[in-house]
Amino acid sequence: MNITIIGTGYVGLVTGACLAEFGNHVFCLDVDQRKIDILNSGEIPIHEPGLDEMVARNREAGRLTFSTDVAASVQHGEIQFIAVGTPPDEDGSADLQYVLAAARNIGKHMTSFKVVVDKSTVPVGSADKVRHEIQSQLSARHSLLKFSVVSNPEFLKEGAAIEDFVRPDRIVIGCEDSREGDQARELMRKLYAPFNRNHDRTLWMDVRSAEFTKYAANAMLATRISFMNELAGLAETVGADIEAVRRGVGSDPRIGYSFLYAGCGYGGSCFPKDVRALERAAREYDQELLILRAVEAVNNKQKRILGKKIVARFGENLSRRHFAVWGLAFKPNTDDMREATSRLLLHELVQRGATVAVYDPAAMEEAKRTLAQDFLDSPEALSRVRFCDSPEETLDGADALAIVTEWKTFRSPDFDQIRSKLRNPVIFDGRNLFEPDVMAEAGFEYHGIGRPMPGSQGAAL
Ligand code: NAD
Repeated sequence: MNITIIGTGYVGLVTGACLAEFGNHVFCLDVDQRKIDILNSGEIPIHEPGLDEMVARNREAGRLTFSTDVAASVQHGEIQFIAVGTPPDEDGSADLQYVLAAARNIGKHMTSFKVVVDKSTVPVGSADKVRHEIQSQLSARHSLLKFSVVSNPEFLKEGAAIEDFVRPDRIVIGCEDSREGDQARELMRKLYAPFNRNHDRTLWMDVRSAEFTKYAANAMLATRISFMNELAGLAETVGADIEAVRRGVGSDPRIGYSFLYAGCGYGGSCFPKDVRALERAAREYDQELLILRAVEAVNNKQKRILGKKIVARFGENLSRRHFAVWGLAFKPNTDDMREATSRLLLHELVQRGATVAVYDPAAMEEAKRTLAQDFLDSPEALSRVRFCDSPEETLDGADALAIVTEWKTFRSPDFDQIRSKLRNPVIFDGRNLFEPDVMAEAGFEYHGIGRPMPGSQGAAL
């Protein structure tokens, strides 16, 4: 089939590459000329395991094209996927300007029936707005062309995006109840047939329910994380170990183990903005989602927990202090720095006068770009952040090590080397990678999240 992907970011590029891998001819459009140039030079602009080989393979086979040519992109695909960003507006609601711009372009240039698929995460009712935008363009040029808008939210996880796309738990598709909707359903069934060979993973529903499902899923996952983070604070106070609690709770099959890890908060391009957008959308209908307000508030607090612990240990004034930071990306196996906890931590440390040496296995370049924006008004503060080539290099003379991202390479480090390089053997572990008693035996002062320090006595409840 001929497919067009509008927006060649994380979701668009993975979707395009995977659909090409299954034999489709995919045209990936982006407005960012730099991104398209990188892709056409054989590189890829993001870090995603396995993606570079897949993109190269399908480009060479002539099934994957990258371009900024809007008219050609609309001509190409009978199915047009909209996979542009939906960043938060000033008030936290989803900004649909890129989605609607994509819809306008389709309406302006289409010359045959199109199935327009919202793959971006968009609030309930967005498909109506997309439909209206396309119809306005068609009406302006007195065209009677038909089209159908479908909601097909994406559930891939950065870092495991290809596996998630190729072997999805479910494929949610919301179609209109109309003749065009039936046509769209058939095309979508055909497109996803190779992904359903083992068993049918498609959940067919109406458009609004499909749009809602994506937000509900992310809100649920974020809720589990914030719930455990809030309990972690209490666990520390009363001398309970949140890791033991996690195992005890997760072993209940009604609850399960996923997304119950306490840590220094969630970030990324999805959870923070989707929780906010759902909560703000509800307000438009005079409904208050109290749970989601709390989820967001707990996470905002949690993202500052490492800074708070460091200040509690070393004092408010950090001007003669130096810290090592491991992990900058919002999670492992990605270079994505969007809403990453590391950004708040670095801000806190350098604003208090500290110097910091940082390392991340994949996000160094992205971090340099992001932090340059964050510190636009205070480049002097940013000059106190040193970017290192290895985790070991960050440690020399540091007062403590803070771990922000749970990369696998940080899980079994050389503790003797860490102890000998640090000025003080102090570790703030924002992802609970290590066991407190093992760390104490190894001579470390270890601060986890929701984990009592060995020998400490909890307060009575
Ligand atoms: P992204 O910022 O990585 O990519 C979006 C791309 O769209 C950019 O390259 C941008 O230049 C391009 N773009 C913007 N306007 C355009 C236009 N009019 N025409 C063509 N290209 C245009 O974003 P992303 O992370 O891929 O997210 C895309 C959507 O998918 C969002 O709604 C997001 O919430 C959702 N989503 C993301 C993930 C994820 O893990 N990143 C997972 C599931 C869903």
